Amino acid sequence: MAGEPQDDCLFCKIVEGHIPATIVRETETTVAFRDINPQAPTHVLVIPKVHYPNAVTLAAAEPAIAADVLREAQSVADEDKLDSYRIVFNTGAGAGQTVFHAHAHVLGGRGLQWPPG
Ligand code: 5GP
Ligand code: ZN
Repeated sequence: MAGEPQDDCLFCKIVEGHIPATIVRETETTVAFRDINPQAPTHVLVIPKVHYPNAVTLAAAEPAIAADVLREAQSVADEDKLDSYRIVFNTGAGAGQTVFHAHAHVLGGRGLQWPPG
């Protein structure tokens, strides 16, 4: 069923506590944890506890939870005292998505160039 945990999903395993992660925030609907391969001094992933393959399918099915993900991204930035930061939703393998459970990357703490390449 839509939103149910998937046995083969790494981020569902982090939500369930079956794989360790450095969790920085948790709410009823979201978990935020440090990326294992950080690309900036702050590199946190904010994920919904429910499983959807990407951010847009999450937003279509559960718009309130998609908004929770964005609110939590801002809370991560506030906690790390970032004035400027980037929120990234890689969507599809061709755009660099490797984990098919919706997640926001929150990146900051260094200069960020645009366009990113
Ligand atoms: P994507 O490439 O799908 O947008 O982002 C997936 C992110 O998950 C990558 O930045 C990758 O470093 C991170 N990642 C992959 N495996 C793990 C893990 O086991 N733990 C944590 N904390 N991050 C992971
Ligand atoms: Zn999942």
